[in-house]
Amino acid sequence: MIKRGANKGLPKPHEAKVHVKKNDTVVVIAGRDKGKIGKVLQVFPRKGRAIVEGVNIVKKHMKPTPYSSGGIVEKPAPIHVSNLMLYCPKCKRGVKVAKKILEDGTKVRVCKKCGEIIEPKE
Ligand SMILES: [Zn+2]
Repeated sequence: MIKRGANKGLPKPHEAKVHVKKNDTVVVIAGRDKGKIGKVLQVFPRKGRAIVEGVNIVKKHMKPTPYSSGGIVEKPAPIHVSNLMLYCPKCKRGVKVAKKILEDGTKVRVCKKCGEIIEPKE
């Protein structure tokens, strides 16, 4: 799929940058959980996937151990970042973002629609 030399000057595939970061609020734009809004708990840049709170929940059957009674544990599974869009609290929807450099040199992401800075508070 990737042509030799086609990605010259760009990051190597295993360094591929994803547009979401931990603690970002994102909207799911495709798949089973389309329309859901959640917080990014973990990002796997090499896989291009992220775990989003409450999204892509899978049920895992646990065997009983001396420490727990076992049963079904529900936990979010990684979802491909192409299914995610950054959520703009002002537009109240998933938006495309632009990069902006503030006066103090900090790079931030801003909503392309309303210009609101979209960065996690933490
Ligand atoms: Zn906006």
